[in-house]
Amino acid sequence: MDNFIERHLAAQYRTLLFPHDYSGEGMFGFECNDGWADLIEATLRLTRQHAELNALDVKVNQAKEKFGQLRIYHSGSDEIIGSVFEIAQLASGSICELCGKPGEVVSLEGWLVARCGKHTGRGHLDPIEAYIPDEKYITSYTQALDMILAFFGTGAVRWVQDERTAFAWRRPLEMLATEEGCQAIFTFLKRLEHGVGV
Ligand SMILES: [Zn+2]
Repeated sequence: MDNFIERHLAAQYRTLLFPHDYSGEGMFGFECNDGWADLIEATLRLTRQHAELNALDVKVNQAKEKFGQLRIYHSGSDEIIGSVFEIAQLASGSICELCGKPGEVVSLEGWLVARCGKHTGRGHLDPIEAYIPDEKYITSYTQALDMILAFFGTGAVRWVQDERTAFAWRRPLEMLATEEGCQAIFTFLKRLEHGVGV
């Protein structure tokens, strides 16, 4: 990952990434490409919120790409935070690891990787633009997932994986790849919450 992102995340989420007695300026090594940076930030933000509310001492021990998905290894979490990390893993397969645009897990030269259409081809990769955090996406993802967890609790991991008639047979985990998709999920559940027929 780009050093800028690692520094940014390490500064913002040091309680999750470093031991309490750590006072240095170190970086946390995210072993994946920048396209997942917003997903990681949204995940860490939700985790920190939930950990603070429930007085949990959650630590992220390692975050890396494996078989085209983001794996976050952690300790001190409860079932809800476990679900947050699990859903991040599922959603990452629908986000290009290089550029952050919607994508899917494909096999490239024998490796499973998450890529958009543009980054699936070999050899002609455009340089990736410098990463800028997309605060709108991060906020939308955080709100959508917060709502999903409030509704379904630990059943959330299952809920995001099934095709939903309400979303024209799309799977919520794919919709979590974009700001619009996150907002559609949020709006849908908000209406359910208020008992509006859907
Ligand atoms: Zn891409």
